[in-house]
Amino acid sequence: MPYSNSNAAELYNQNMSVLAVAEDVLQKYEPVIGLEIHVQLGTKTKIFCGCPVEFGAAPNTNVCPVCLGLPGALPVLSRQAVELAIGAAVALHCRVNPFSRFARKNYFYPDLPKGYQISQYNQPLAEHGYLDVFVDGTKKRIGVTRVHMEDDAGKSIHDGFKDSDRYSYVDLNRSGTPLIEIVSEPDMRTSDDAYAYATAMKQVMQYIGVSECDMEKGQLRCDANVSVRPRGTEKFGTKAEIKNLNSFRFLKMAVDYEIRRQVELVESGGRVEQETRLYNVDTGQTVGMRSKEHAHDYRYFPEPDLVPLQVSEHWLHQVASALPELPQDRRDRFMNEFGLREYDAEVLTLTRAVGDYFEEAVKASSDGRATANWVTGDLMGLLKAAGKDITESPVSAANLGELVALINKNELTGKLAKEILPKMFETGDSARAIMEREGLKQISDTGALEAIIDGVIAANPKQVDQYKSGKTAVLGFLVGQVMKASRGQANPGALNELLRKRLG
Ligand code: ADP
Ligand code: ZN
Ligand code: MG
Repeated sequence: MPYSNSNAAELYNQNMSVLAVAEDVLQKYEPVIGLEIHVQLGTKTKIFCGCPVEFGAAPNTNVCPVCLGLPGALPVLSRQAVELAIGAAVALHCRVNPFSRFARKNYFYPDLPKGYQISQYNQPLAEHGYLDVFVDGTKKRIGVTRVHMEDDAGKSIHDGFKDSDRYSYVDLNRSGTPLIEIVSEPDMRTSDDAYAYATAMKQVMQYIGVSECDMEKGQLRCDANVSVRPRGTEKFGTKAEIKNLNSFRFLKMAVDYEIRRQVELVESGGRVEQETRLYNVDTGQTVGMRSKEHAHDYRYFPEPDLVPLQVSEHWLHQVASALPELPQDRRDRFMNEFGLREYDAEVLTLTRAVGDYFEEAVKASSDGRATANWVTGDLMGLLKAAGKDITESPVSAANLGELVALINKNELTGKLAKEILPKMFETGDSARAIMEREGLKQISDTGALEAIIDGVIAANPKQVDQYKSGKTAVLGFLVGQVMKASRGQANPGALNELLRKRLG
């Protein structure tokens, strides 16, 4: 069932106030946060068989003996899945191990017919990376402990409301979907850090084409590990793990709630249990699910049906060199190459598509700064109002670039351009086509301008006298009148010069 966000926020505030932790008490403790993020790899087929990965297919149609876990079926590792995982690891500055191993993680669950998940354990694909994030304009480097590959389980669907009418179903279409798990170091200290890290992670994964990261389809899922310690002390407190957060807003809210819960517990003489908790989006609270005393012993052992994974220098290099520029590198380049302000560079690299559009437009305009203003300002405004993505922009990048170039060549005033862009957006036509159709052209022709100026001078004798008696500030008014009379088409430079000359 979809939850309204405002409702969730309201409940969250209520529940935060139930936790009677005063702000100064809260400040005595330092939160420590580490995230485990699962990202679905964007392959067409599953990790160990040829079944399609497809969201929303009829239940239990995309299955075969391998992903159903039937006895005797043998897994075959998808090369594409490995390449996407390597790409993700490289983008996170990890060391990719030349030799890694799959392992069985044994547990029983109705949506796991194999009785084990195929994951990686003590020999993961990649380790020792990092991701830089920006929190309130300050750069923080968050360590990435490891990136490993694994298969996803199926899905249990619970249905019915009354006890007499309650059923659970199992859909195994998702079973065998390729995932990477990205484990962070416990380097985050606030819920804002966690939010920034998760957001940056999603951005990077989307950028390099590892995954679309559609959270509503479960393509990115987040577990948050949270502990608190008295400020100034070294030793970490006992952590609780909040499982399966499927939105970054909920991640932030759950972490904030958990920090307060733990501080209150410790302050009142209690002890934080090492446990797994769930975030209830209805109440805004985290709820204990299972304690570590009842924790699974997964009895990991090397997967006997798969040979160890070997990644040669050559393969690693191939994958790494095929990666596109990373968002942060691109942002820095936009600032250096086009002289953009940090904020604009940030907005223009938010997604790869926006950055591509901008660069394409600059090719036609040869003016990075002006193009940045038009894209982040007017164009994004129009897109937002129309509910469109930049990839659906009716104004092509080349046409936007041309518009900017026309202004720079003095064929168009900025004012006229602002009127033309919505028409371009509406019709998909170029600025030139619209100018010709509507007779909208900058008037630079001296004769035509002089005629308009003469008219304005004749109509405003008072202001003309003021100017002549030394009140030169009135020039602005007269320029405005000429501009108006020309329907915004007068070339501002030529207009100013001619008007001054005429006034003597
Ligand atoms: P486990 O053995 O319970 O799986 P790990 O050491 O593998 O724990 O860590 C899992 C995640 O929890 C990592 O993201 C790590 O950074 C984080 N983590 C570990 N210890 C703490 C702690 N005391 N407080 C908060 N997060 C922690
Ligand atoms: Zn299959
Ligand atoms: Mg662990």
